[in-house]
Amino acid sequence: MFDQHYKIDDLLAFDEKYIMPTYKRRSIRFAYGEGSRLYTPCAKEFIDFASGIGVCSVGHGNVKLANALAMQAKDLIHLSNLYLIEPQALLAKKVIELCGYDMQAFFSNSGAEANECAIKIARKFGEPSKRYKIITLKSSFHGRTITTLKASAQDEMHKHFAPFPPGFTQALDIDDVYQVIDNETCAVMIELIMGEGGIYAQDELKVQALCSFLKEKNILFIIDEVQSGVYRSGEIFASNAYKITPDIITTAKGLGGGVPIGMTLCGLKDIFAPGDHGSTFGGNFLSSRAGLCVLEILEDEYKSLRLAQAIEKFDGFLNHYAHKFSHLFEKTVGMGLMRGLVVREHQLQKDLIDQAFEARLLILKSGKNVIRFLPPLNIKNNEMEEGFARFEKACLSLES
Ligand code: PLP
Repeated sequence: MFDQHYKIDDLLAFDEKYIMPTYKRRSIRFAYGEGSRLYTPCAKEFIDFASGIGVCSVGHGNVKLANALAMQAKDLIHLSNLYLIEPQALLAKKVIELCGYDMQAFFSNSGAEANECAIKIARKFGEPSKRYKIITLKSSFHGRTITTLKASAQDEMHKHFAPFPPGFTQALDIDDVYQVIDNETCAVMIELIMGEGGIYAQDELKVQALCSFLKEKNILFIIDEVQSGVYRSGEIFASNAYKITPDIITTAKGLGGGVPIGMTLCGLKDIFAPGDHGSTFGGNFLSSRAGLCVLEILEDEYKSLRLAQAIEKFDGFLNHYAHKFSHLFEKTVGMGLMRGLVVREHQLQKDLIDQAFEARLLILKSGKNVIRFLPPLNIKNNEMEEGFARFEKACLSLES
């Protein structure tokens, strides 16, 4: 569904004139999609190994999701959170049952908002003991609101936007967290697999040890699963894969399959009282219905082992190309279908993404030297094979 009336040059002109230039866009428009394939209005086909940025977890043009949304939209799209919202209650129940953590949920509309909620919980938790500091890791990414930007420990992103709220401390890595903790620390917030920071998966034993240490010290452990959550790691949450029980988990991206949603899960029951937090749109009928339908689809992918098979096959391809083009790539990184190839030279990152685009494959960057792969979680074998054939073409074109 797109407006035939406008030529791409018209749209580019509108975009340039009316949209703030916060993104460097490619001069292409997609009109529709099917599974892991995207099509331009003149049916030029691309393979999508990006899923938006880890959002389209059940692929494009998913008929089941589209029907669920259409049926919900015909009944009710939105009411305020002052009334019961059936799909919201069912979605919270479903996520909590699937992950097995004894938690309660708050719904919002994005990853940054899910993290804002986590930060507010941590501040309220620390208030009686006058603890307010939250430790985050270097190169982490937690969002773009003023507070979550400060929590994202990347100094270059902070320029222009000071002053920030106080109380955020950077640790170099998990080992360093122990040195940085002081008697004002109320929480440590980390990504188990760093989405923007190079698809770096933390060491399982170190994470488990930190989790136990923080419990002993009565400091909250917040896991940002905005990108890694909802089966992207191979389990419903990477926290499950790491066999830890965090105090708070945040998630967003893949949960709505493209419909905006954020979710904060917390083991501190009833930490918030009415009025402490809120969201106009959070958990409304449409986004909660999307979440329920996405989970139904992904639970089936998981239980049928199709997800595990896709992960194994994807891993096989990545290892093959890391080996075949070892002069381009140092190693593979990541977990599940949140994967990366570390390039040997920074410039290769952009060149390869550009060449892949020429070969009609969408891939992403992460950090300064990683090619990131976030395909739809229900990607089919033939889509994966074709995608990697195009990736090979892109790698070969860099050699000529
Ligand atoms: N946290 C992580 C780990 C993310 O990857 C992102 C987005 O990329 C965010 C938070 C922010 O999410 P949003 O863009 O939905 O606010």
